[in-house]
Amino acid sequence: MKALQYTKIGSHPEVVEIEKPSPGPGQVLLKVTAAGVCHSDEFVMSLSEEQYTAAGYPLPLTLGHEGAGIVEELGEGVEHLSIGDAVAVYGPWGCGRCRNCAQGKENYCTNAQAEGIMPPGLGAPGSMAEYMIVDSARHLVPLGDLDPVQNVSLTDAGLTPYHAIKTSLPKLGAGTTAVVIGTGGLGHVAIQILRAVSATTVIALDVNDEKLALAKEVGAHHTVMSDGGAVDAIRQLTDGLGANAVFDFVGADPTIATAIGAAALDADITIVGIGGGTAHVGFGTVAYDATLRIPYWGSRSELIEVLDLARSGQVGVEIQRYSLDDGPKAYEALAAGNVRGRAVIVP
Ligand code: NAD
Ligand code: ZN
Ligand code: ZN
Repeated sequence: MKALQYTKIGSHPEVVEIEKPSPGPGQVLLKVTAAGVCHSDEFVMSLSEEQYTAAGYPLPLTLGHEGAGIVEELGEGVEHLSIGDAVAVYGPWGCGRCRNCAQGKENYCTNAQAEGIMPPGLGAPGSMAEYMIVDSARHLVPLGDLDPVQNVSLTDAGLTPYHAIKTSLPKLGAGTTAVVIGTGGLGHVAIQILRAVSATTVIALDVNDEKLALAKEVGAHHTVMSDGGAVDAIRQLTDGLGANAVFDFVGADPTIATAIGAAALDADITIVGIGGGTAHVGFGTVAYDATLRIPYWGSRSELIEVLDLARSGQVGVEIQRYSLDDGPKAYEALAAGNVRGRAVIVP
């Protein structure tokens, strides 16, 4: 079968021919229907050999941590699934036994690292292939009649902001303001989630006009150019108070500085992007009682909730479709900042 793999440190992903896998006991083989292209893949492929090895990533690595498919074959002992079921893959795989996993928060599994459990596409073979193995039926959520290509990215670009926003919901009542920094794959879904689950006013920041236009289209009340004047612009839009929650989907030094500068008293400052920045906080440099959060992905039940938001028409992903053969082009477009919403690979 064909797969899109990262084969050599510092190289670009390439389409290769590999053997079709077969499911072991408890595993499920999916015929992949869609795979989303995330900026985190870029991050992984930007690591030095030392960092890559230290993180435990294998080479070659079949990319794709946003996946959807049709159940093709069931491993021994798998129940409650049938051949032909349409499913989405819950990516942050955990042990299934620890306290966090018991709550469905496998993204915060405390055994995964020690047991070498890694997400598909970020360690285990991912969804950018004609077929993929899912380690447990527990990691599949029924798609029902949701279109897999339109909705596959909800497994990360939807789930990650949903988890971040849900945590901050108590601070997002009527009359409040939320800031979304970076309106790409995650950010443009975050805006819709904020509009769907809260009464907050949404201010979106990005570095180019097309991305800001998309932000407006999907529900941002205001857009602001993400530059040195952004904090003042946010303060002006909020009568000097600042934002009650800031979600930074870039995570670079300047955006983290903006996030901290724009935060109101008692605000949540949530850094989702892994742009290599550092928060400089101390008495007098950040609003009183502000909270800093660094979340990772989301829980199994939150994925079910995000898919429900799509089902009720409240959240939708703006997608650009690529074939598996054109997969490398999707990564080129992402690196060049030319993806509007999310690139999705359809094998
Ligand atoms: P993306 O490339 O689709 O979107 C990033 C957006 O940020 C683009 O619209 C870009 O124009 C904009 N941007 C770049 N520099 C900016 C700046 N200085 N100010 C404002 N906007 C700027 O990326 P994505 O796939 O949405 O991922 C966003 C980030 O979140 C990445 O760093 C990714 O690795 C990370 N991520 C984290 C988690 C997690 O669990 N914490 C999960 C998924 C992705
Ligand atoms: Zn991702
Ligand atoms: Zn666990």
